[in-house]
Amino acid sequence: MTLIAEPRGGTPCDLRLHDATLAEGRRATIDILGDRVAALRDPGAPLPPATRTIDLGGALVLPGLSDGHVHLDKCLLGLPWRPHGASGSVRAIIDDEKAFRRATRIPLAEQGAEALLERMLRSGTTSLRTHVDIDDVTRIDHLAQILDLRARWSDRLQIQIVAFPQSGILGCPPVAADLGEALRMGADLVGGLDPVGIDGDRDAHLDIVFALAERHGRGIDIHLHDGDAAGLGTIAAIAARTEAAGLGGQVTISHAFALAEAGDLELGRIAEALNRAGVAILSSIPGGSRCPPIPRLQELGVPVCFGTDNVRDCWNPATVTSMVARAQLAAYRFDLRTDADLAALLAPITAVPARVLGLGPGTVAPGARADLVAFAAGGVPQVIVERQEPALVVARGAVAVDRRAAGDPPP
Ligand SMILES: [Zn+2]
Repeated sequence: MTLIAEPRGGTPCDLRLHDATLAEGRRATIDILGDRVAALRDPGAPLPPATRTIDLGGALVLPGLSDGHVHLDKCLLGLPWRPHGASGSVRAIIDDEKAFRRATRIPLAEQGAEALLERMLRSGTTSLRTHVDIDDVTRIDHLAQILDLRARWSDRLQIQIVAFPQSGILGCPPVAADLGEALRMGADLVGGLDPVGIDGDRDAHLDIVFALAERHGRGIDIHLHDGDAAGLGTIAAIAARTEAAGLGGQVTISHAFALAEAGDLELGRIAEALNRAGVAILSSIPGGSRCPPIPRLQELGVPVCFGTDNVRDCWNPATVTSMVARAQLAAYRFDLRTDADLAALLAPITAVPARVLGLGPGTVAPGARADLVAFAAGGVPQVIVERQEPALVVARGAVAVDRRAAGDPPP
């Protein structure tokens, strides 16, 4: 039995999850006090009083799932279908989205951000990192609205915010100053976007991003779609700058499509640089040929996290919001079949984001935040291949979703 301090007198446990199976296979009773796991008790151990007990009957309990990359402010869930006509270059989609924003000016409260958060929570996501557009159309409007949204959801979800220059920085004059203002307003990280492909000057773009991060004491998360030598060169430059600035553990490269094009020898060199610098990779497991080689990166020790990216917005009509489904996409994409390979897909949505992004508890342990998800499964591989929705979601110590009763269909 493992215990942390229990109060003398008073109620030793607000919520008890009795007879859970943990990811490593052992059975335990999980006691929750406030928003923390208070104790894991071995089967048969004496149980002090609890205000509420839920008998899980051996259900698998995992830490709340983490979505390392989403765009809450773009989501159009709940609005009439908007045809998707722009294709091809990143620039074409940026221009298409800006035209839509200029024409509609829809407040985010009337868009799909709330609906998206509901879906995410119901699928077991209890922490997420959202990028928020900062450009010459939105300026800081979206950020102000997402900060409000974060405050309204703070009792259920951990939300990190990246100030994201969706139109680039160098060619969009108000953006550099607005990114600084966004960090002052409460954004947690500064973003970047294709320093070569969008801004045409890798070093000038990274100069601004890293200067903002250092000036405001924040982390960095850069969208990098650039492929080939431009993309690989940018990855090397980000690693070198991170190491030089002592920002290890605070820098993420999202997408990193160029890694899909690196040979194994080159990949080994890049992995070494990323690991030395403390830079994480985030992937949404995209289709086509652009997905970084996730299992190989894991073998090389690179911290890899998964994210949803776009959900029914100007960029992507897709609506896959579950991180379990995202892990299944990785299993499909890389033809993973063994239990060991499937189980390795849990870390990018739990332990790794906790360690390198500061997202989620990452573990079920005394003292950890009580974000927990229970599945009717014998182990992680079954959850992933069956693409299960959780039977129970506990967020910050409170039951947020309970599907154990019949008649509550998955979303
Ligand atoms: Zn994105």
